[in-house]
Amino acid sequence: MENCIFCKIAVGDVGTPFLYEDVDCVAFNDIDPKSPTHILIVSRRHIGSVVDMSESDVDLLGRMVFASKLIANKLGLPGYRLQINVGEAGGQEVFHIHIHLMSN
Ligand code: AMP
Ligand code: ZN
Repeated sequence: MENCIFCKIAVGDVGTPFLYEDVDCVAFNDIDPKSPTHILIVSRRHIGSVVDMSESDVDLLGRMVFASKLIANKLGLPGYRLQINVGEAGGQEVFHIHIHLMSN
């Protein structure tokens, strides 16, 4: 998707280091962290938002949640929050679907 920052990051065009990657998604540190650990899990394929999801995307989102768990395990986090902001009114700023993984 043209002009989508997360699409550019996902293909490696920005040089953002990945903390994790698999065939479905990549993960990297949020540029403006809201908690001591603040990682974004981003799909490789462009989906704008949860509102744009179709049923065929259900497996992908499940894999992104599972990737979040693998990252948290690797970091040894005892607990954490997973957050998806949906729509401008829901606080979404980047319209490429992603999960926030946050921990204190
Ligand atoms: P959201 O408000 O759910 O759309 O979250 C977007 C998040 O992306 C915010 O927490 C931003 O700080 C973060 N962000 C925006 N641009 C970048 C970037 N180039 N690299 C890393 N994180 C970014
Ligand atoms: Zn995108």
